[in-house]
Amino acid sequence: MPLHLDARQKAMLEHMGLRLDFLPSTTPDDSTPETLTTPAQRPATAPGHTPAQPSAQQAPALRPPNAAPSVTPARVPQAHKPVRATETIQAANLGPRPDVAQADWSTLQAEVQACTACALCQTRHQTVFGVGADPQGGPVDWMIVGEAPGEQEDLLGEPFVGPAGQLLDQMLAAVGLSRQPAPEAGRRVFIANVLKCRPPGNRNPQPEEVAQCLPFLERQIELLRPKVLLAMGKFGAQALLAAQLPEVASMPLGKLRGQIYRYGEIPLVVTYHPAYLLRTPADKAKAWADLCQAHAISHAA
Ligand code: URA
Repeated sequence: MPLHLDARQKAMLEHMGLRLDFLPSTTPDDSTPETLTTPAQRPATAPGHTPAQPSAQQAPALRPPNAAPSVTPARVPQAHKPVRATETIQAANLGPRPDVAQADWSTLQAEVQACTACALCQTRHQTVFGVGADPQGGPVDWMIVGEAPGEQEDLLGEPFVGPAGQLLDQMLAAVGLSRQPAPEAGRRVFIANVLKCRPPGNRNPQPEEVAQCLPFLERQIELLRPKVLLAMGKFGAQALLAAQLPEVASMPLGKLRGQIYRYGEIPLVVTYHPAYLLRTPADKAKAWADLCQAHAISHAA
């Protein structure tokens, strides 16, 4: 479905620092998303699985005019059943938490709030469960997965409330979405992080912290059943793609973005983290192309 921008959305994009003449066209003629696999290259999907990639008509116009030439990924990701992090935890001989995998939404919130599974609980002010629509209203349209709370998120208990969050809100507004639990437009979004607690000094998440925290994210995804997942930044991408793309940890984000993956049966789009975009505004046009891709997927679902 083409993305028609009204005057407010165009103003949002200009406010984001995007020059509108650089935006990807959204006309159906320009229908080849950047680096999407051709049918011959696409992963063999298991019986009963729907291909991840919407048809050309459903996924219009995603290549920014100044984008790098398409590159076929070295490895075509396979549709997979996500490996639950609890399996990893058992393998590492840490305590499994079977209750998380069965928890309903409010139990899950309480589990996150009470979690002491890693040392981050000692330095946090608050856990940050996530914000947006809850599963009571049915599947959400988008689920966005960031990295970890920063200083302001730790104090307020809400993800993406600092400068990166303001840019995220502008990006969402430009595609007609918002973090409000019951948005006017009716399209529902949930925003979460891989880690629910702030790493001191905003250092990178450690693998053990990710392993302990991932069951919460996995259960959030199971309960929310998003039409599309948007991983923002390399930690979100790594957490959601590790099972199907082992080399993800060594791949730069610029190589990861530009194609549609799958997390289980859910289409997954990878894009730049808004904090990176604040430092590197030249890449905002590519992030916009990624948002258009996610928009097309969620409308086609
Ligand atoms: N960066 C993130 O990845 N998440 C937040 O919640 C804030 C900043």
